[in-house]
Amino acid sequence: MQLAGPIKMMKTALVDLRATYSLPIGREVVEMNSLIGKPIKLTFIGDISCSNCGNRTSKSFSQGYCFPCARSLARCDMCIMKPETCHYHLGTCREPQWGLSNCFSPHIVYLANSSGPKVGITRASNMPGRWIDQGAISALPILKVNSRIDSGQIESALKPFIADKTNWRKMLKNEVEPTDLLEIKNGLLEKIPELINHLEAKQLDDEMLNINYPVLKYPTKIVSLNFDKTPSISGVLDGIKGQYLLLDSGVLNMRKFSSYHIELTS
Ligand SMILES: [Zn+2]
Repeated sequence: MQLAGPIKMMKTALVDLRATYSLPIGREVVEMNSLIGKPIKLTFIGDISCSNCGNRTSKSFSQGYCFPCARSLARCDMCIMKPETCHYHLGTCREPQWGLSNCFSPHIVYLANSSGPKVGITRASNMPGRWIDQGAISALPILKVNSRIDSGQIESALKPFIADKTNWRKMLKNEVEPTDLLEIKNGLLEKIPELINHLEAKQLDDEMLNINYPVLKYPTKIVSLNFDKTPSISGVLDGIKGQYLLLDSGVLNMRKFSSYHIELTS
């Protein structure tokens, strides 16, 4: 098989509690799980086209955009990374219509175990994809609110008590201890009763999700591969976790290289 074109971050689905991945490349979508255990080659053919406007860009900003789009799109604004800093109410949203439909929709505060227990937020419509993208082995939605800023305020209030970041090296090496997210949830909710009341956050039923990843062999040492430094990357695909291809030659963050024109050979 040989395909070429701009790639997007891998699409994910959960089938019988197992993550499945497909890679959009040009007009095709490649089922990646079926390539596991086989040698593959990915070559950066030199072009990057902005995933918003399609213009060629010599450098990728905000994981797949040209510089003007990265400066003008609300989805590339800092408030997406730090939802508690949403500034829609100040009238300064870069794209108020986009903000209205994306940030003023139901959001979920969740606990996940990616490299250890962490708190995070996501649009309700983005579950379980958000957790698969992070490489979480388990996840538990805990609260539902009506906007991104509300979820961000809760996440911020919980940060003194629990991590909000994933250690991606530990996640990729599968150095993750199983943890009881239900017990952690109960401890955390006790810390912020006033905020939960104030935001009218809805407590969710305990529906823990466990996620398995299609991995034959986890790396013991992390070698990070990068198309900017090594345009041609090849190796046996040992597995996929988060948005990373685990090759026997190193790990490749496919999300980081969204919009790169890649030739895939297997
Ligand atoms: Zn653009």
